[in-house]
Amino acid sequence: MDVPDSTTVSPKFNFTDADVTFKSADGVLFHVHRKNLEVCTEGFPPAEISVTAGEISDLLETAETLELLFQFMYPERHPALDTTPFEILHPLAEAAEKYQVFPAMNICHIRLRDMVHEHPVEVAVYAAKHDYPYLVSQVAPMMLSMPPVDVIGMLPGYLVLPWIRYVQEWTQVHQTVALKFRHQNGTAYHFNGQPCNANSWLGYSFTCIERLAPGVHTLQSLDDVFHNDIPVYNSQYGRQSYECCRADLQAWRKRIEDAIAEIPKFHTFL
Ligand SMILES: [Zn+2]
Repeated sequence: MDVPDSTTVSPKFNFTDADVTFKSADGVLFHVHRKNLEVCTEGFPPAEISVTAGEISDLLETAETLELLFQFMYPERHPALDTTPFEILHPLAEAAEKYQVFPAMNICHIRLRDMVHEHPVEVAVYAAKHDYPYLVSQVAPMMLSMPPVDVIGMLPGYLVLPWIRYVQEWTQVHQTVALKFRHQNGTAYHFNGQPCNANSWLGYSFTCIERLAPGVHTLQSLDDVFHNDIPVYNSQYGRQSYECCRADLQAWRKRIEDAIAEIPKFHTFL
């Protein structure tokens, strides 16, 4: 990758009447107007950086980030960011929050929300750090299907304990509601206490248990767990065996869904 030398100037932000100059972490200069920064942001320039006319202030962000960020401070059509890859969007979103560049904060947050499926943990960390509680809670269930060590490795310390507590709630539902079924001496009973009259409930139960067994993440794909591709278990009764057990399968699923609905949202653990 080319590293620009210190004399490189952003072609877009090179105003001759500029009264402040910033230098990106990779050495690109941005000549901009103080009044635009003041109008569009709450924290730019940051208090710890002294901005004196004629002097260059160093920033920690790259030129790629600043080039986008400064566009949000000028009266022009702002970048839509709809095709911006995560690798560019994420540092931009962090910079927008850090300097409180309001127009950029809003669109970055919306775009990151659209990327929760690809980058759940990064979005969760961003959302928790910058106080978007609904977004933290929206992302959290998606993190359940990731290896726990990976999730905890990516979370900042203050989110680890809330995360463990949250997973514990899901584990509780998994073990005490999802993986629970009745049988006695090899006879499977429906949840209403009646033995299965087609003697096929044991087969259905085992199929569902087998699909639920891999872990709490299976609770997020109940369509797959209770998919009616479950084979007919008793040829003597044929299709009737499914009819006998169908109501109980539906009720089983409903119990799980109700229990999941009771799990507190992740942001309540923060
Ligand atoms: Zn049955």
